[in-house]
Amino acid sequence: MPELPEVETVRRGLASRLQSFVIQEAEILRERAVASPGGSTAFCRGLAGQTVGDWRRRGKYLIAQLLHPNTGEPSGCWGVHLRMTGQFQWHEEPTEPCQHTRARFWNTREQELRFVDVRSFGEMWWVPQGTATDSVITGLKRLGPEPFSEEFNAGYLQKKLKGSTRSIKAALLDQSLVAGAGNIYADESLFAAGIAPQTPAGRLNRKQLEKICESLVHVLEISIGVGGTTFSDFRDLEGVNGNYGGQAAVYRRTGQPCLNCGTAIDRVKLAGRSTHWCPTCQS
Ligand code: ZN
Repeated sequence: MPELPEVETVRRGLASRLQSFVIQEAEILRERAVASPGGSTAFCRGLAGQTVGDWRRRGKYLIAQLLHPNTGEPSGCWGVHLRMTGQFQWHEEPTEPCQHTRARFWNTREQELRFVDVRSFGEMWWVPQGTATDSVITGLKRLGPEPFSEEFNAGYLQKKLKGSTRSIKAALLDQSLVAGAGNIYADESLFAAGIAPQTPAGRLNRKQLEKICESLVHVLEISIGVGGTTFSDFRDLEGVNGNYGGQAAVYRRTGQPCLNCGTAIDRVKLAGRSTHWCPTCQS
């Protein structure tokens, strides 16, 4: 599943590829790819003729500003969530779509941005101008602060986790606590912070919470820097696969020696997810 660094990598790809892209035509090949009111009809009508402006990321949501092609005035938003397997492809020349193609967007030069999604959980929204974005993309309302924001700090975590008996691993996966940190980054940041993933979140002191904040931001920054990936089939717009997996300290390294102390990396199940950790370095 794409996590924050992958989504950020996709955002950067879209931002550079789609500069002043005017959507001549949009086509939806599977109705459930559109989650906004009015379905694919309203979506395609809303996007057609508009210029694609800036892309921003909020958690794992991507949101493009649409602009009126003549005036440059805001004319609505285009939201995307990749979910499990959604990916964008850029096609310079006309090519036949594969069977997993869910949406297609052309400019006046017949160049195409294509949305391909094998599992078909990916979603898109059209938000009309003047409508609150989170009233259409309702999942945005439930998101906690971004890991890179000032709001995300030890004081915030201490307040939110006070008295909590759930594991710190489970807490970090909770998108309402912090937006966009998934399984690999939770494991890697807890290793970097030297904290056992089973530790009840409410028992962590200020210093430990500081370490967690720092470590999470650090592993996310590294992953964004290498074009982030957490899973083998992630591709950016140009078809390039990132390689964070190659540098993971604990994630999917069960039984292999800890890079720090040589202890075998252990795997446990927490919050229903495989959790990788070093029983010596993390306590
Ligand atoms: Zn170790």
